[in-house]
Amino acid sequence: MNCREAQDVIPLQAAGAAVPEESAHLEAHLQNCPHCRELMGDFTEIAAHLAIAVNPTPVPGVLREALERRIDQSITPASLKIPPQNSRMGFILAMAASIALLIAMGMSLYIQHLQKTEIHGLHQLLAFSEDQNRKVIAHEATVVTDWENRVQRLESRVQQANEVINMLKVPHLQIASLEGAGKQPSAFGRLFWDKHAKIWKFCAADLKQLHSDKTYELWWITPASKKIPAGTFNVDDTGFVMFTPTIPAGMKLSHALTAAVTIEPAGGDLQPQGPVELIGKL
Ligand SMILES: [Zn+2]
Repeated sequence: MNCREAQDVIPLQAAGAAVPEESAHLEAHLQNCPHCRELMGDFTEIAAHLAIAVNPTPVPGVLREALERRIDQSITPASLKIPPQNSRMGFILAMAASIALLIAMGMSLYIQHLQKTEIHGLHQLLAFSEDQNRKVIAHEATVVTDWENRVQRLESRVQQANEVINMLKVPHLQIASLEGAGKQPSAFGRLFWDKHAKIWKFCAADLKQLHSDKTYELWWITPASKKIPAGTFNVDDTGFVMFTPTIPAGMKLSHALTAAVTIEPAGGDLQPQGPVELIGKL
């Protein structure tokens, strides 16, 4: 017996209406076929529910007699091994009941199938919408982080701009220019120098960003060509920097000095080794 044949017999078997030979073949098939076994289970369950739910309906006497007469006319006793008349009527009614039961079971299974399909569809829809929500939230988080970073950068620029403005308000401010040299001709630097208050600031712009193993280093160069380190720095993503250079004790900023910026290994060096990027006389 194959699955197709088994599925024809399963409803009959559940209704207790399968003939013994079919029933035996079906049982043999069910041993090896989980799919048909599941179907058999469904039908058996529904048949059990129907047996509980449906009240037996007595057949009215007139109908019973009419049916008996009809059966007598249409079925030749010789062609069938028909039991005595009362049993025959019982058999016909059992068949009718079985057919009604099969129709009810079929409808019930079909409704169950529709519900299962619908629930599966809803689950898929829900999973899809949850996935979309997760993507949207992740994207929003990225956007927020991006904006936070931008705000932080802008705040730092505003602070630097305020420092420059405050320096420019100082009376007798001296400004020295450093010009781009070597590979960065468009870069430039400014040294703001308040002789009286002894405040100095260095800023540079249009310098390229360096790898983490390199740093810019500012130097004071004396008329005797002595190079004195004045601090290391790196520029932001626009190539800008502003910082307070170091002035060694005893050293005085004067117009006899030259300032220069070189590229050195990260952490800086005691003497310049790398190429000169900015240079200018004070
Ligand atoms: Zn099967």
